[in-house]
Amino acid sequence: MIDGCGREIDHMRLSLTDHCNLACRYCVPESAAPSRQMIDDAFAYELVRWLSGHHGIRHVRLTGGEPLLYPELLPLVRRLSALDELEEITLTTNGQALENKAASLREAGLTRVNVSLDTLNPDRFAHVTRGGHVEHTVKGIESAIEAGMTPVKLNMVVQRGLNDDETVATAQWGLELGCVVRFLEVMPIGPLAHVVDDHLVSASEILERLSTVFRLAPIPQTIGQPAVDYAATSGALRGVIGIIAPTTKSFCERCRRIRITSRGAVVACVHDNRHFGLTECWDGERFNEERANEILRESVLHKPAVGSRSQSLTMIALGG
Ligand code: SAM
Repeated sequence: MIDGCGREIDHMRLSLTDHCNLACRYCVPESAAPSRQMIDDAFAYELVRWLSGHHGIRHVRLTGGEPLLYPELLPLVRRLSALDELEEITLTTNGQALENKAASLREAGLTRVNVSLDTLNPDRFAHVTRGGHVEHTVKGIESAIEAGMTPVKLNMVVQRGLNDDETVATAQWGLELGCVVRFLEVMPIGPLAHVVDDHLVSASEILERLSTVFRLAPIPQTIGQPAVDYAATSGALRGVIGIIAPTTKSFCERCRRIRITSRGAVVACVHDNRHFGLTECWDGERFNEERANEILRESVLHKPAVGSRSQSLTMIALGG
């Protein structure tokens, strides 16, 4: 699949639900009406089968909302992992419910997990997530490592005055466990749509802070990877630290991704407000492929060269 700017598209993010067991302040607006939209599991499977079989999708990331709340997660992963064209099936989670699911997900064919971990401080975690328990996420991370989904990647969204004093400690903690630790800039989406600058800690500032403790040597980027990775060393501690800078150093020219929302719409760019519904092509068992091809083409052809910051959906609704 080649978009209107000549970029090859082979990654998809599939949102299984817009329901979440946390309500992170920078992700979920205070006024948001609770939603429990779940994607139809047959639709989700046939969609990936069609996109991987006919349109070159090779990497699927399951997300949400919180994908571990999706009742059909295990059978869906099992079926997806039998698709020959897929190279990997990964999942992004807050880890709250991972401890008891990691081993069975691995056994079902999940390749890896990315776990969101914005702070290791229990009180801060409860505050940022509006009620979450950091110890549950820590146990989830340990279970994923034990299950062999390595490297487990930890994602910390760095926010001014909230957790920016924890970057070094989180990196040390994660590397000691053998995780890849990645630091993300906040994006102008959802509650931060118009106030992102108040919360933003830039990639260069994050790098500067980490450099006070770690020796960081850039690792050449692999195709489709938004993070700039570094081989990090500090005394005997070694590992990989990544920095993702969607706000100050956009990676739009390297973007190879489309998203499917839990309502079954294609969103070609995280910053773009155009959503192209695919459920009209679905009769409950199969796709009207001719119509689905038209919709996909329309969406991908108009994937913006550079994100225009006009997204009206929140990350939880979009599929983060
Ligand atoms: N519930 C899962 C989780 O917490 O990882 C998956 C969905 S969540 C929407 C996916 C990611 O989006 C999380 O890592 C979260 O930190 C990130 N996110 C949400 N809103 C964001 C924003 N305004 N800027 C940067 N990252 C954001």
